[in-house]
Amino acid sequence: MTLHQNLIAGEWVGTDGVENINPSNTNEVVGVYARASADDAKNAIAAAKAAFPAWSRSGILERHAILKKTADEILARKEELGKLLAREEGKTLPEAIGETIRAAQIFDFFAGEVLRLAGEVLPSVRPNIGVEITREPIGVVGIITPWNFPIAIPAWKIAPALAYGNTVVFKPAELVPGCSWAIADILHRAGLPKGVLNLVMGKGSVVGQAMLDSPDLAAITFTGSTGTGKRVAASSIEHNRKFQLEMGGKNPMVVLDDADLTVAVEAAANSGFFSTGQRCTASSRLIVTEGIHDKFVAALTEKLKGFVVDDALKAGTHIGPVVDAGQLKQDTDYIAIGQSEGARLAFGGETISRDNPGFYLQPTLFTEATNQMRISREEIFGPVASVIRVKDYEEALSVANDTPFGLSAGIATTSLKYATHFKRNSEAGMVMVNLPTAGVDFHVPFGGRKASSFGPREQGKYASEFFTVVKTAYTLA
Ligand code: NDP
Repeated sequence: MTLHQNLIAGEWVGTDGVENINPSNTNEVVGVYARASADDAKNAIAAAKAAFPAWSRSGILERHAILKKTADEILARKEELGKLLAREEGKTLPEAIGETIRAAQIFDFFAGEVLRLAGEVLPSVRPNIGVEITREPIGVVGIITPWNFPIAIPAWKIAPALAYGNTVVFKPAELVPGCSWAIADILHRAGLPKGVLNLVMGKGSVVGQAMLDSPDLAAITFTGSTGTGKRVAASSIEHNRKFQLEMGGKNPMVVLDDADLTVAVEAAANSGFFSTGQRCTASSRLIVTEGIHDKFVAALTEKLKGFVVDDALKAGTHIGPVVDAGQLKQDTDYIAIGQSEGARLAFGGETISRDNPGFYLQPTLFTEATNQMRISREEIFGPVASVIRVKDYEEALSVANDTPFGLSAGIATTSLKYATHFKRNSEAGMVMVNLPTAGVDFHVPFGGRKASSFGPREQGKYASEFFTVVKTAYTLA
């Protein structure tokens, strides 16, 4: 099999390869990808540092053209890249193609943002002085991404980093190097100068740690677990470096008595179980008021019975496999914890066999859960959701906010009063009314509060807050 190498200083390098395994069929090797060392990471950082002065002063049309070309190629290859994504991560082919289209849209959006760079000119409070406020690139940006969105998350970090004139050292999750390699290859062929984007595939504990330890990274943008996020934060403070963290969620979805039952069930089924529940915006706490509780549980259970769990590439599959053996163990451990804590297993809970060996798990629904149980407080990151019964809206809101996390929150209701109150009083970064907690637009800010996020928002024009630094210049007229 061809070895997909790392991209350092504009050269494809590396000899030591790791197999990328398909979670739908563990007999299938998706590809072989180079494993970078700590020295490779250091070389990549040095290359990005050397490329920064020229790239940070490059013309906006050059940057626009490279990002636009990248968007166009990703879109033109959406079926092929979507298939690669489904094979390496396990989300269904329609979900994977949708994510690939999203990556193209993000590159397209930031190609446009390059042409909209602007500052401010203000009069000084002192006579005969003018004040200019401009945004400048930060320097070398380290990008560390998780496995659950193998093309969209790299896109929403790489595109703005480059658009605003930064150079990049990019370490994707070891489980899913395929889409990241494809993005690096496309950008390289689109004409990105040597060293502007460096790809270092490899272990977080080696390559990622070498990035954290480097004094030459001006910023790190990270998405992943809370534990690694804390390491990024601690190392960044030590090196006086800007950092941005997107971490876990324990997102609530409130269902009120007055909800449209079909809308509520659709939103809950999507939020809890699509993409195998492996989304930081997934809803795993369904907070349901007494009057609709039994009807909602019955209808959601019926819906789950109809979901086909199978190979991500098979037509008709609703839920693909869990990403790997470690994540499957985490999911089944939490299912056992839920039962031991006294929640009622209303549906699922079992691993299942399919034609090919893979990490298949039934969608799993608990009822009679309380908000104090571990299954209600800790991120499971699998197709597992719990129903928490509450008396009324006030209790629902209080339970929704009673969590260390604050990424996304949803409410199903036909009441304008409750919808408006929830939007205002939810302690989450993103609020959804009669919509799934997952599923966001690319041109508006993405991010959370409390333990879910730290630093400026990602995506849309708000991305400039992280990927640029402000300069205030005074001139005597
Ligand atoms: P991690 O935080 O371990 O991985 C995220 C990224 O950080 C990966 O690229 C990883 O590399 C890298 N990394 C790991 N250790 C270090 C280190 N010491 N220094 C620098 N980088 C490092 O999360 P996992 O992917 O292992 O997932 C674990 C849990 O995190 C999930 O079960 C889920 O609960 C949560 N999660 C949340 C996500 C979200 O979007 N909120 C996304 C993914 C996971 P490598 O892959 O090589 O280890």
